[in-house]
Amino acid sequence: MKQRILQIGAIYKEGCERLEEANVPDARLDAWYLLEHVTGISKAAYYADPERGLAEGEVQEYFSYVQKRCRRIPLQHLTGEQEFMGLPFYVNEHVLIPRQDTEVLAEKALELKRPGMRVLDMCTGSGCILISLLKLRPLKGISGVGCDISPEALCVAEKNAGRHCVGADFRQGNLFEALPEGDRFDMIVSNPPYIPSSDIDSLQEEVRACDPRIALDGKEDGLYFYKRIINGSIRYIRQDGWLLLEIGCEQAEAVSGMLERAGYTGIKVKKDLAGLDRVVYGMYNGE
Ligand code: GLN
Repeated sequence: MKQRILQIGAIYKEGCERLEEANVPDARLDAWYLLEHVTGISKAAYYADPERGLAEGEVQEYFSYVQKRCRRIPLQHLTGEQEFMGLPFYVNEHVLIPRQDTEVLAEKALELKRPGMRVLDMCTGSGCILISLLKLRPLKGISGVGCDISPEALCVAEKNAGRHCVGADFRQGNLFEALPEGDRFDMIVSNPPYIPSSDIDSLQEEVRACDPRIALDGKEDGLYFYKRIINGSIRYIRQDGWLLLEIGCEQAEAVSGMLERAGYTGIKVKKDLAGLDRVVYGMYNGE
């Protein structure tokens, strides 16, 4: 009897049921990811033998994760990982969990990447944008700097850079404060906090309670960091350099206007997979 209870198939089913009862979104998927995290068993191995036995310790560990997920702790905080651009990144409660939407920004930046470029990632968080840019489709002489106000976030970014053997230079400071005057970049990318403060309480529980508030909160109108980054960027961007910003789906017009007034040209908006405006970018031509 005991052995039957410890069969992986029964454990997984029970995990699904507990998460479903707690109304966790994508309950079955999360039940699976937690099982994989605890046992290291692949889906193929699972389906080949759903009756295989699990050690009692593994079962206890699994249900303790399931319980935490029922309390809406994000899956990624339990597994400690999130994939971005096909690469695994460490995450914890000090960084924004990388989003699929942000891949639109990373893809555009990869397209614009040229040999010898110096890239700045402002508000780097986990470092996911900068590290993917440096790691994927490598080109000669590319270098990158990531800035963030949070020393705890930068610890995560450093670990991610080490994991992917990428030589990024991370600096702590409030926006451009960490950069010496006269430092110039060929490309600046940023996914800054852009949710209007009053909208934060209505976000999904996992985001509202568990993503760092400083990674989300774009102050009153959500545009605070765009103003500061766009206006600050002109002291750090080279002539013909690119500035790429992730935006909220209703911010394209406001952010494009700011870019234009700051001396950026050829401003374009890119949509995400849901068809919503997600990235605004332009080339600096202010001299
Ligand atoms: N650059 C990181 C990301 O896109 C963090 C962004 C943030 O903290 N607002 O995931």
